[in-house]
Amino acid sequence: MRARPHPNILRTSRPRRSGQNGPVTDKGLVLVVEDERPIADLLRLYLTRDGFGVQVEHDGAAGLAAARRMRPVACVLDIALPSLEGTEICRRLREDGDWTPVVFLTARDDEVDRVLGLELGGDDYLTKPFSPRELVARVRALLRRAAGPGDGERVRTVGPVSLDPARRSVTVAGRDLTLTPTEFDLLAHLLRRPGRVFTREELLATVWGYASPAGTRTVDVHVAQLRGKLGDAAGVIRTVRGVGYTANA
Ligand code: CA
Repeated sequence: MRARPHPNILRTSRPRRSGQNGPVTDKGLVLVVEDERPIADLLRLYLTRDGFGVQVEHDGAAGLAAARRMRPVACVLDIALPSLEGTEICRRLREDGDWTPVVFLTARDDEVDRVLGLELGGDDYLTKPFSPRELVARVRALLRRAAGPGDGERVRTVGPVSLDPARRSVTVAGRDLTLTPTEFDLLAHLLRRPGRVFTREELLATVWGYASPAGTRTVDVHVAQLRGKLGDAAGVIRTVRGVGYTANA
């Protein structure tokens, strides 16, 4: 296990913007809810430097209120927080129909299934200790993806599953399916070339927009959820043992 980098060195280099929270910029506002102040400061610094506005909250309830009030373009949520866990913030936003991309900061690898799970609807995660540069890259990748695919893509049908990229809708045997943006993009990518086998690394790179051998579990968890939602049509996505996934041709 690597030693955690000591973040206090950054206490001397403050972000350019004055005040507690930076103003909204062209790139939009990122909400960071993290009670470990050195980590929060570090994220503020890196996100600000990348051109984002940053709102930092150190408490869960304040974080949820800020998410509802300020409509950030993305949320970075620590899990263990005073008053309300990060997972609960995400769950309540999803309950409101708010699908703002969420990156969780987890302390333990075994939390990953839960935070990316159906009930919580997180889009990505980083396990502490992590590199703030990596966090910024993840946020940017999620936002690129949220911007949506190009226009003019045709409807794709495989078996009972039909996906319309323009409307971002999926039906199974004519029944509408509610997918998260991440699930939709994953399915769209697989259906783009039925029969073609995609490795987990490839899916991570194209759907999530980054490459990391450590992140491939993200793919497995989302595939499992997607299959759960597809129900009887789950067989449309086939696991190719030791390689990755494919949509049945
Ligand atoms: Ca914490």
